[in-house]
Amino acid sequence: MKFSKLFIPTTKETPNDATLPSHQYLVRAGFIAQTGAGIYDFMPLGKIVLDKIRTIVKNAMDDAGANEVQFGFVTPLSLWEESGRANTMGHEMLRFKDRKNSEFVLSPTNEESVVNMVKNRITSYKELPVHLYQINTKFRDEARPRFGLMRGREFLMKDGYSFHANEEDLVREFNLMEETYRKIYTQLGLNFRVVAADSGAIGGSGSKEFHVLANSGEDTIVVCDSCEYGANIEAAVRKKRHFNAWYENTELSVKTEKVQTVGFKTIEEVSNFLSVSKAQTIKAVIKKAIYENTNRVVIFFIRGDDELETTKACNSVDALELIDISEEEIAQAGLCAGYVGPFNLPKNVTYVIDQEIKDEQGLVCGANEENYHLINSDLSSLKEANYFDLVAVQEGDTCACCGGKLSYTKGIEAGHIFQLGTKYSAAMNANFLDENGKAKPFIMGCYGIGVSRLVAAVIEQHHDDKGCIWTKATAPFMVDIIVSNAKNEEELTAGEKLYNELKSKKIETLLDDRASARFGFKMKDFELIGFPYAIIVGKKLSENRVEIVDRRTLEKTEIELSKAASYLETLINKG
Ligand code: ATP
Ligand code: MG
Repeated sequence: MKFSKLFIPTTKETPNDATLPSHQYLVRAGFIAQTGAGIYDFMPLGKIVLDKIRTIVKNAMDDAGANEVQFGFVTPLSLWEESGRANTMGHEMLRFKDRKNSEFVLSPTNEESVVNMVKNRITSYKELPVHLYQINTKFRDEARPRFGLMRGREFLMKDGYSFHANEEDLVREFNLMEETYRKIYTQLGLNFRVVAADSGAIGGSGSKEFHVLANSGEDTIVVCDSCEYGANIEAAVRKKRHFNAWYENTELSVKTEKVQTVGFKTIEEVSNFLSVSKAQTIKAVIKKAIYENTNRVVIFFIRGDDELETTKACNSVDALELIDISEEEIAQAGLCAGYVGPFNLPKNVTYVIDQEIKDEQGLVCGANEENYHLINSDLSSLKEANYFDLVAVQEGDTCACCGGKLSYTKGIEAGHIFQLGTKYSAAMNANFLDENGKAKPFIMGCYGIGVSRLVAAVIEQHHDDKGCIWTKATAPFMVDIIVSNAKNEEELTAGEKLYNELKSKKIETLLDDRASARFGFKMKDFELIGFPYAIIVGKKLSENRVEIVDRRTLEKTEIELSKAASYLETLINKG
């Protein structure tokens, strides 16, 4: 392809809201153009990259035996009513009515569509398993679309759904998908990590996320320095901590006592005043839990030196979301802000206690009375309490698998695989007959890859202060032949000859033959767009020599014109 014939509108202008390199460079290098909040068009170079990623994903899915299909981008709301998600998807799902007043949605995901496709078409265990996938547009009316392709409202996803007659077969497919995804990200040239994840609103159990490691990632990943353990902070666990009560291992029988703590409301103040460590106090985090048609006040009790992990907390009370609560609302619930503890709470108040402090003794907590705390509390006396893992693992905590140290790293979620179970098949009455002729709901798995998010993720991991540096598998072209002065016949002819030579070697090459652009400009475009290699055909041509530039290192190698194509071929094949 010739540069002069390709629409590549590069620019020096950075969009105002673009904070991430991938967002800035993809716009500046003419890959994408924004048309609305979280909505992007792909220009020619962007489309080439998107299709490359799409093809790698498609080939891997086909190799794994999945069947490609295509669901309508628009689905009738009735399908979502059948599954029950019409009420739980919230504002992310965009709904609209047609001229006949029928309701529809723009697909944010397609569990309902796939169950609808398979239902009554597969009726026997003999026809299972089957795995259907598509690579298609999704729309989610994200609260904060941002970071360019990273969190769009309209985006491209590979979504696959498998159907099984039993759990073992689901686990087999789940493992096959993990392996398939590993191949995909490796082939794309990405440094990634597979981690344990929360299953979120889609439901089900057993889920793993695939994270492209990059400092700009929105997700915090907990990793162990000594073993393979990795988990999204929303699902990460650590070794239980235990702190001896001062009277533990003594003969003393110690009673819980109420002590005056006038005006001391924060963990800091209370632990200083009573001379105990923060870990030996109980912190009350009060939130409002939002449900489909109602809401309620919930208190989460955790150790004083821990932080509440919102996703875990939300799951513990099956809420759609947790929001902050005002002092007035706390008072209305009969609670005394700053002095809330798990003992003697007003009746009907919902509370959950962090699993780590189950049965713990000797902790300090609020007395549910203004200006008073309890010391020497005994949580084992709370027989009716609900315990749940509620806290965020902190850096330096101990790994539950091997005793190593846990630390944080940042990741971009590029894929997610779930063992769904029968949630959707049961709700939508999609059954098959098992070996004994008994009707059972399909056991399902679902598997997503953020195809358009990957375009941005490649750049987040591979760029410098000059622009993009595409990996070999994702580069729109492998080589950019820069004809320094395209008005010079000799240079242009030599460039064209090289171009044909590389093409005959099946190397994807772009010939920068623009007569109107100067060498410096062409070089800047090469650096900004980020093709893996450039060949400069310039002044050295009089000595029959050209220069090869490696985009990653920007190192230049001079070489004889006649050897340039084979030299590059070797470089490229070296991997
Ligand atoms: P996130 O936590 O980032 O919102 P999610 O859990 O909602 O992701 P899934 O429903 O599992 O995502 O979707 C599968 C994949 O689609 C994700 O792993 C991600 O790569 C991609 N994806 C999700 N939301 C977006 C978005 N708004 N823009 C671009 N890609 C997205
Ligand atoms: Mg999401």
